[in-house]
Amino acid sequence: MSSGEGRRERAVHALQALVRIPTVSHPDQWDDAAFDALLAELEQRFPLVHERLEVTRVHTHGLLLHWAGRSNARPVVLMAHLDVVPVEDPARWTHPPFSGAVVDGSIWGRGTLDDKGCVVAICTAVEELLEAGHVPAQDVWLSFGCDEEVFGQAAPEAVGILRERGVEPWFVLDEGGAVAGGAFPGVRRPVAVVGVTEKGVTSLLLRAEGRGGHASTPARNGPTARIARAITALERSPMPASVPPPTLELFRRIAPHAGLPLGPVLAGAARVPALLVRALLAAGPETAAMTRTTFAVTTLQGSPALNVIAGAATAGVNIRVMLGDTVEDVLAHVRRAVGKDVAIEVVEEGAASPLSPYSTSGAGAEHRDEAFDLLERTIEQVFPEAVPAPYVMMAATDSRHFTAICERVYRFAPFRMSKAQRESIHSHDEHLGVQDLLDGVAWYRRLLEELPEGSPERSPA
Ligand SMILES: [Zn+2]
Repeated sequence: MSSGEGRRERAVHALQALVRIPTVSHPDQWDDAAFDALLAELEQRFPLVHERLEVTRVHTHGLLLHWAGRSNARPVVLMAHLDVVPVEDPARWTHPPFSGAVVDGSIWGRGTLDDKGCVVAICTAVEELLEAGHVPAQDVWLSFGCDEEVFGQAAPEAVGILRERGVEPWFVLDEGGAVAGGAFPGVRRPVAVVGVTEKGVTSLLLRAEGRGGHASTPARNGPTARIARAITALERSPMPASVPPPTLELFRRIAPHAGLPLGPVLAGAARVPALLVRALLAAGPETAAMTRTTFAVTTLQGSPALNVIAGAATAGVNIRVMLGDTVEDVLAHVRRAVGKDVAIEVVEEGAASPLSPYSTSGAGAEHRDEAFDLLERTIEQVFPEAVPAPYVMMAATDSRHFTAICERVYRFAPFRMSKAQRESIHSHDEHLGVQDLLDGVAWYRRLLEELPEGSPERSPA
């Protein structure tokens, strides 16, 4: 069944089936039956994957699958997650969010891009290779989490199991980047961005307290006024901006593909980082977020009644910590910015992920990394129209937990995604092109086929 037609049927039908099972994860919404059904569906769709690989259930509904290769010297981990975010307003979807409808050459529904498409593409590639009698050159582990969208326990537990078994992955590959079309104005070719680090998530609660009382006799400088001042102070004092090395490499690689007048500007910017910083800050919030740690005040709380003065007011601050800043740097910055009027409580602490090795080609900065080169080469084979490049991911993925056991953690989903498709993630009208799903299968298959030979001797796993 590895003919083009077989692959199409298997992959498309499997993705439709998985999308129709609403494995929504949300702090107050969890449906065990849906996750049970999803795992059963997966087993039925990919029988050889479940028969021939050693299957370990992780946390509640996560899976860790082990495919023994000819060598275990350089094991690799392919990741994806089975859960999806809730649907806010089904009426905004052109096709119902859990329909898995195939319309206009695309499969529509929640999870097609994030991240059931990857689950299906990985499983289809492995199932095909098993049918063909392929034995990978290296041990392959598949790690499918069930609670990625709620920062859950499945991924850390999978890391614990691998650690116990003495597995030190050569590289780990999770969702994140994509073959992104229209990502940079003036750059005509899609850019296949591979995340080599991701920002850390840290959350704080700012709190001001006072006497409260009746709203008819307000005192000056109450808790709400102090919280308001703290928020504006924070907005007025952003963290220093800079361009980290992977972003410079990204611009160096796309510069030759940008037309006039942008091409020479980008090429020059890669030589004068200060210019690039200014351009990125000016170009909008997305590019500005590439240059520094960001603060977003998200939750606000005062008094529960209109005629009651708040005895305490709080503001939640969600912080995305940039490579190069530590959580301590960030806390010190916030303390300086908001002053002594408000107390700061650390709700969660997450640093930026360590930088994974990547290849650079710039003048005087030649450096090759074999694992990154493998990703780059296979991307060029399956997506010849794309420019592969490293980048800094803004969002968080489960793969951050794997940095504890692996030096090379990459974030890339092998799917073409337009700007509209990228914006549909966690929003409405999420959809994946049928041909793009099939090319994703081809890419994972190529990657698995091209794993390099390692040392032949096996130590007990
Ligand atoms: Zn995801």
